[in-house]
Amino acid sequence: MAGEHRLLLHNAQQLVLICTKGEKYLLQAGMQNLAVLDNASVVIGKDGCVKAVGHADAIRRQFSEASFEKIIDCSGKCILPGLVDAHTHPVWAGDRVHEFAMKLAGASYMDIHQAGGGIHFTVEHTQKASEEELFNTFRHRLLRMLRAGTTLVECKSGYGLNLETELKMLRVIEQARQLLDSNISSTYCGAHSVPKGKNATEATDDIINNHLPKLKELNLNGEIHVNNIDVFCEKGVFDLNCTRRILQAGKEIGLQINFHGDELHPMKSAELGAELGAQAISHLEEISDEGIAAMASAKCAAVLLPTTAYMLRLKQPQARKMLKEGVIVALGSDFNPNAYCYSMPMVMHLACVNMKMSMNEALAAATINAAYALGRSHMHGSIENGKQGDLIIINSSRWEHLIYQFGGHQELIEYVIVKGKVIY
Ligand SMILES: [Zn+2]
Repeated sequence: MAGEHRLLLHNAQQLVLICTKGEKYLLQAGMQNLAVLDNASVVIGKDGCVKAVGHADAIRRQFSEASFEKIIDCSGKCILPGLVDAHTHPVWAGDRVHEFAMKLAGASYMDIHQAGGGIHFTVEHTQKASEEELFNTFRHRLLRMLRAGTTLVECKSGYGLNLETELKMLRVIEQARQLLDSNISSTYCGAHSVPKGKNATEATDDIINNHLPKLKELNLNGEIHVNNIDVFCEKGVFDLNCTRRILQAGKEIGLQINFHGDELHPMKSAELGAELGAQAISHLEEISDEGIAAMASAKCAAVLLPTTAYMLRLKQPQARKMLKEGVIVALGSDFNPNAYCYSMPMVMHLACVNMKMSMNEALAAATINAAYALGRSHMHGSIENGKQGDLIIINSSRWEHLIYQFGGHQELIEYVIVKGKVIY
């Protein structure tokens, strides 16, 4: 029957499934042995979900070509799952290109922060920007992320700090969720920095007493859909006690815990996250051995951010040690005015070169494990029956080109598909 199925991707040289048994995440051994089929095809149904994967001949016997709305011949090409970016700050006004020059001249993140730059600069511009202006720049950024293969992305607020601007950012994220093709996981990050005129305890009280009750109300009446709560747990920002209070209060209103920890100083953030049942913790350049063990047993994902360590010249997170100790390792771009990178292919490349991950590990970290970090791996992060049909097709006969080629992925990625619909 014509149009019974939405899309057939036919006869790919390689089809990278990632996994085949509905795994929610992969540990080191699984990451090293990704499921890849040669000469394979994928069928996406009307509902936008994967209906069948298999060898091209088997799919040809099972489905008549006339039953598809669209067929793409993938001969000589590779199909991979859409990439998942587990950590971004994409809603803001006022770039910080001037600070890049300062950093190149030797200023540290905290030097710039204390001089009134950094987050405060962006907060000031974001507070002044209209919702429409924020949406337009955000939309453009999401399109660039899609073009680089990202089909599911975590998006944080956190450049408002006051309730009014935080809600403005969350409404902008909500608007994108409804109007655009990208899949979005929305994060309230009101504790990204201590706002001017308050100390950390006052800011913590404000968040718990004013911000979170409002979020709960708006989430319940469906005006916005916030999934995660985030805090920048760092010396001179929110200490361990403030972080604990905010995350716990967030959990109580039903948000998943997913926060910044152990980045510039060892804070015992990893231990705290494991104790509170965090879904994920990001950064972890300064994680302790006890923190690694705690995250492994709590099944708390480590979202590593190679662009930040690279641009701030921090020590690299210990990816190899985390993998060896059984931590679920994921990747994110950390796209923000400080680390202006949209591209998960470049993030994977940096993870391989600077953090010594293999290409298989990096791809698993940027697909199934990044989806797990957002609590979405039941529908995203691999090409399996019943999962959402989010895929990319690259114009190359080996999938590793997606990581091997540093930059220029817009030439390599020929199609980006979300729910079986060709977006690019
Ligand atoms: Zn971040």
